[in-house]
Amino acid sequence: MSTEHSRPAPSSETADGAGSTDSAETPERRALRAAVAALGRRHGRDHDRERLWAEAAALGYLGVALPEEYGGGGGGLVELSIVLEELGAAGCPLLMMVVSPAICGTVIARYGTAEQRRTWLPGLADGSLTMAFGITEPDAGSNSHRITTTARRDGDDWVLTGRKVFVSGVDIADATLIVGRTEDARTGRLKPCLFVVPRDTEGFGRRKIDMEIQAHEKQFELVLDEVRLPADALVGDENAGLLQLFAGLNPERVMTASFALGMARYALGRAVEYAKQRQVWDTPIGAHQAIAHPLARSHIEIELARLMTAKAARLYDEGDDAGAGEAANMAKYAAAEACVAAVDHAVHTLGGNGLTREFGLASLITAARVTRIAPVSREMILNYVSHQSLGLPKSY
Ligand SMILES: Cc1cc2nc3c(=O)[nH]c(=O)nc-3n(C[C@H](O)[C@H](O)[C@H](O)COP(=O)(O)OP(=O)(O)OC[C@H]3O[C@@H](n4cnc5c(N)ncnc54)[C@H](O)[C@@H]3O)c2cc1C
Repeated sequence: MSTEHSRPAPSSETADGAGSTDSAETPERRALRAAVAALGRRHGRDHDRERLWAEAAALGYLGVALPEEYGGGGGGLVELSIVLEELGAAGCPLLMMVVSPAICGTVIARYGTAEQRRTWLPGLADGSLTMAFGITEPDAGSNSHRITTTARRDGDDWVLTGRKVFVSGVDIADATLIVGRTEDARTGRLKPCLFVVPRDTEGFGRRKIDMEIQAHEKQFELVLDEVRLPADALVGDENAGLLQLFAGLNPERVMTASFALGMARYALGRAVEYAKQRQVWDTPIGAHQAIAHPLARSHIEIELARLMTAKAARLYDEGDDAGAGEAANMAKYAAAEACVAAVDHAVHTLGGNGLTREFGLASLITAARVTRIAPVSREMILNYVSHQSLGLPKSY
């Protein structure tokens, strides 16, 4: 028996089963969402990353959260997270948005010197400059207190030595914001400090890691071998490293949540579309509750995670860093879990087609898992909530 008539073709259109917007969202934000979604639909899954990046930049989307005086849109994390989520929901997420405008742009806008702001912010806003972010180290991993990349002074210069791993987009970034440590002259204790390391600086080596992820952005292992940097490579004030780091981490978590939510909506949309058309008995497969309920559950989980993500972004924009910290962690957790589940159900809904290249869902299985691990793993968020929210004792 031929089932050819009931086998849906892969579509380049997005049928976004979870695309409803929050009714509390302002008309401006709804308009932004709709405009970005339209851009995303024009590019779609088979997009040319460079073209999309350039177009998103030209339309002001990459710099939407950066200060107006440096060519940004003067908006906040709410707007930036809308942009990333909508591009992801259309199948064309821009991973470097998590890093370049969100982490690096925020840190430099808040804590950079006037010169650093002038040098970097206009380019980060108009997309002509990109910055990667390197904190993870092979022997520290989730325990970032253990990083050993060290900066020492030599005259006016800084000399940086250490290793980093899994750093995304170093090859396409003009520079990488490297988290290191330096010795406090007064107490002798090591304190975090951030350095802008231009891509082709002598001693700054990179090796591409062979990842099982189909993405435009690659991950790199970095070796900093006596990298000599001028005094102004140090971001802002030497004593504000911890503040600077924290300023970047909440946007990173919120943007990872938006990345996950976009992917989850994309996967769910494809599955819903397929389940409405594919028929192997008397009704489309979407009429079978074994197929429908997991998709419905995913829709609920995605909507809940979107609410928490919106809350985290709003608290951050309002300057409530402590409130934003808890919400951003919870949002990242909820969005990643919703994403992993949505992709799993989506692949299953498509049966064999779920595993073909043509339908483009199988590669999301690995991509979705990234959101559970990076930039902070599911377990480290559960630890955070155990300790910070519930006051439970630590095991480590
Ligand atoms: C695709 C991708 C892109 C990335 N991009 C970047 C980037 O641009 N810049 C950057 O700096 N880093 C980046 N990372 C690194 C990422 O942030 C780390 O992989 C992540 O922080 C986890 O560190 P780890 O891999 O060393 O795992 P580990 O720390 O070794 O953890 C391994 C496992 O043990 C668990 N675990 C560890 N400690 C505890 C504990 N105390 N309690 C319970 N469980 C625990 C973890 O949850 C995890 O499941 C990227 C990673 C990936 C996969």
